[in-house]
Amino acid sequence: MNSHAPQAAIDRVVSEIQRMGCQSHLSQGRFRTVIGAVGEEGLIDQNHLASLDGVEKVVPIMKPYKLASREFHEDDSVVEVGGGSVPKVKVGANHAACIAGPCAVENQAMLNRIAREVRDGGATILRGGVYKPRTSPYSFQGLGEPGLKWMRECGDELGMPICVEVMDTRQVEQMEKYVDCFQIGARNMQNFDLLREVGKAKKPVLLKRGLAASVKDWLLSAEYVLSQGNRGVILCERGIKTFEDSVRYTLDVTSIPVLKSWTHLPVIIDPSHAAGKRDYVPSIAAAGMAAGAHGLIVEVHYCPSEAQCDGPQALLPEAFKELMQQLRKIAAIFNKEFVEASEPARA
Ligand code: PEP
Ligand code: MN
Repeated sequence: MNSHAPQAAIDRVVSEIQRMGCQSHLSQGRFRTVIGAVGEEGLIDQNHLASLDGVEKVVPIMKPYKLASREFHEDDSVVEVGGGSVPKVKVGANHAACIAGPCAVENQAMLNRIAREVRDGGATILRGGVYKPRTSPYSFQGLGEPGLKWMRECGDELGMPICVEVMDTRQVEQMEKYVDCFQIGARNMQNFDLLREVGKAKKPVLLKRGLAASVKDWLLSAEYVLSQGNRGVILCERGIKTFEDSVRYTLDVTSIPVLKSWTHLPVIIDPSHAAGKRDYVPSIAAAGMAAGAHGLIVEVHYCPSEAQCDGPQALLPEAFKELMQQLRKIAAIFNKEFVEASEPARA
């Protein structure tokens, strides 16, 4: 729409798009409103839309992902995680955020202890899995709902939004009551039913890159969530499978500048799962931030040898704190800032 298009003109275009049997999606930028018309190509009468009052131009988006594309939304999106009982944390544009915590919630005492450590070290969002996607069915699978309740209590106590992995469509409704952010794991990046289900939810989604997914596949998965009306998608580069076997996965640092050009969505990195080994985590985290990531998600444990899951890659709290000090400096070079946690409601 041209920059002075009145609301009535915007409403008219929206209703015309719907009349053609397409979905309309509004994007309010700094200078103009863009109205996305999503549907089958044959349904859209471009000349008619171009003739409507207030329309500046009609531009076909050639990319297969539409709502995720830069063409649809020129500015970087800022996703807010939290609100309600905990502060809101912004991720995207010049806001960097650190999500940290254990791989899995093992018991309440360990969760509370790690959460306090990561908060003191500079994390503003707490992670902790209660449904774990394990390669072996005999490995620890997570504690389920009791773990979810502890995560909620702990987040509220420390003033941190919580991010928890959802593995199944049947968990979405239950989890939405507790979590501030759904994590979609790498192994579920193309679980399209799950993507649609969290797309209908009102909480933001941290979408990890699939183990063998291209950036395009990944953005099409983001499109599933966006197309259901959920605009809160944060991408997470967590490493992909390559022939290299010296580390667990290969963090594709290149995907970060590629995403910056292709999408408006924020992207964070997960150096823990990429490295698989704590010694490598800081360098990979630094590389990701230098490449333009909007923060990171990282696993921390005070006694990794006792961890039920992913112990070898967990940072010790001291190392985490040190890493955050370095990342703040790197972020500053690229005009990003890790916001400090605000005071908790109850200390
Ligand atoms: C996790 O975050 O603990 C996890 C299982 O990650 P991913 O899906 O990236 O393997
Ligand atoms: Mn893990």
